[in-house]
Amino acid sequence: MRLHYDDETERFRAELDEWLDEHAPSEDQMRDRPLSSAHLPDWARRWQRTLFDAGWLVPGWPPELGGRNATPVQQMVYFEELSSRQIQRSLNIQGLSIFAPSVIDFGTEEQKQRWALPVLRAERATCLGMSEPGAGSDLAGLTTRAELDGDDFVINGQKVWTSGAHHADFCLCFVRTDPSAPKHKGISAVLLEMTTPGITVRPFPSFVDKAAWVDFNEVFFDDVRVPRENLLGDLNDGWRVANTSLAHERGMLWIYESAHLDRALEIALDDAGARNGGQRRHSAQLRDTLVDAYVDALALRCLGYRGFAKLSAGKAAPEHLLLKLFASESSQRLFLDFCETIGVEALDVETRPVEMRVDNSWPWMNRYLGSFGTTISGGTSEIQRNIIAERVLGLPR
Ligand SMILES: Cc1cc2nc3c(=O)[nH]c(=O)nc-3n(C[C@H](O)[C@H](O)[C@H](O)COP(=O)(O)OP(=O)(O)OC[C@H]3O[C@@H](n4cnc5c(N)ncnc54)[C@H](O)[C@@H]3O)c2cc1C
Repeated sequence: MRLHYDDETERFRAELDEWLDEHAPSEDQMRDRPLSSAHLPDWARRWQRTLFDAGWLVPGWPPELGGRNATPVQQMVYFEELSSRQIQRSLNIQGLSIFAPSVIDFGTEEQKQRWALPVLRAERATCLGMSEPGAGSDLAGLTTRAELDGDDFVINGQKVWTSGAHHADFCLCFVRTDPSAPKHKGISAVLLEMTTPGITVRPFPSFVDKAAWVDFNEVFFDDVRVPRENLLGDLNDGWRVANTSLAHERGMLWIYESAHLDRALEIALDDAGARNGGQRRHSAQLRDTLVDAYVDALALRCLGYRGFAKLSAGKAAPEHLLLKLFASESSQRLFLDFCETIGVEALDVETRPVEMRVDNSWPWMNRYLGSFGTTISGGTSEIQRNIIAERVLGLPR
């Protein structure tokens, strides 16, 4: 079997390649590291703005939203090219992949102008107020309250794990607006300025944070007044916004995850060959590790393409419900196996600013510890298994 694209698609790829050769940020520029997922160094703002202006930020969207009405296949090629060059479109991923698309899907024209466009143009960065101390996997159990008082909502409560909140300008916040309704039905989505009086942001480091990089925050709301016009979607319809938000771009993100696994495997192969005069390559344990990762990487790619082909033909693609779990756990397995193979050397944990690209010299233990971010955020592996059991295999709850 040979997988290939038609000539027109390859021309699209060539046009993108040429553009990237000319405009992509240099290694040197990227050395100015972000301090969190909502901190945008000047070069990152300029880069995202350049993508927006040229219609390469979200190719599937129309030009006024930073796109060029690209077909689904062209969008896939776009993600293939960016991921193979290890280039991110935005350093504020939650802004580009969740916040802006949610406003575009559910917002009024005014909301799109005020909240989505500045985020797409990298003038503003965002955070997501979903999880709470008592509501993570069970997001519908959230208790942060918003009560209508005249033309304002008054918000009280607490969020946690809010990535980048200390550098964010805007927040998409999920609040309980009808405590008497069944829990999924009493939630609303509200757009907030992070400078609104009554919001306290408290950053806290995690054990895998690197020097200068702190991403997690607790966010407290004490009588925070937000105009009613900041409601996104209908009152008490926030559950639909939350579900749509998390589904955005899932269909394409596996390409990044697959490229990430390929890259980790490449580094593992280099590392295995480089040390001890190549002896490690001949350890049976390491050979198993590398072959397993190679097979995983190939399977991931094939699953992704198969799902994409089904979706493009208007069919259901249960494969795509497996990809997040499979990609995150395959990388984690590779990192752990590699740590075990290199033994005590793996304890050499390093604290350095976060890398924009997967860096060859990042210690394996850092990779392993860091990989839990991907098996937890956006729905833990256990929750993914529940989803697969119920929606793909048809098992009872
Ligand atoms: C890197 C990272 C970035 C994040 N960024 C944000 C952010 O920007 N904004 C935000 O709002 N949140 C963010 N989160 C929080 C994330 O959404 C939650 O951590 C996640 O939803 C899990 O919730 P929890 O931590 O409360 O764990 P819990 O839901 O308490 O789960 C604890 C354990 O129980 C298991 N479990 C729970 N329910 C079930 C079940 N029904 N069946 C089987 N097992 C179950 C889980 O799998 C887990 O192992 C981030 C998390 C990470 C790791």
